[in-house]
Amino acid sequence: MNSPSGAKGMIMLTEKCVKCGAEITGDGFLADESKPYGDLICWKCKLPLAFAGEFMQPQIVEGDSWDTDNGYYDCEIFTQEDAAEDSGTPLDEVTKVHGFCARLSANGYLDATEWQGSYDTPAEALQALIDTYGDD
Ligand SMILES: [Zn+2]
Repeated sequence: MNSPSGAKGMIMLTEKCVKCGAEITGDGFLADESKPYGDLICWKCKLPLAFAGEFMQPQIVEGDSWDTDNGYYDCEIFTQEDAAEDSGTPLDEVTKVHGFCARLSANGYLDATEWQGSYDTPAEALQALIDTYGDD
C-alpha cells in the first residue's frame, strides 16, 4: 500500500469494494456471507446478487420525500399539502427529506412491491429489502 507523502502512519479507514474498487463510505456488504470478517463489496455490486435468479429484482432510486407521521410520500407525486392531508399530519410538521427508496419489481411487468424508505444511503435501502424479502 502506498502512503501519500506526509501521511506516513495514517490509517486509512475507507474500505474498497473487492469487485469494482469503489470506495465504500457507508455500509458495505460481505462478498462471501460465510466469512463474517471477509472482503466487502459495494451496494452496486450487491444489487444484482441480492435476489439473483428471482423474478422480482431490486430497484433503488434517489430522490426527495415528504416525511409524515404515516410514512414517506414521493415529492414528485404528492404536494406537501396532499401528503399532510393524506397522512393526517399537520402541514408544518411535514418536512422534505432526501434519500433512497427501494422496492422489488419485475422488469417488463407491472408486478412490484411497495416502495420502502426513505433511507439515508442506497446500502441501507438495499439492506431493508433483503431484511423484508430475503429468504436465506
Ligand atoms: Zn463494487
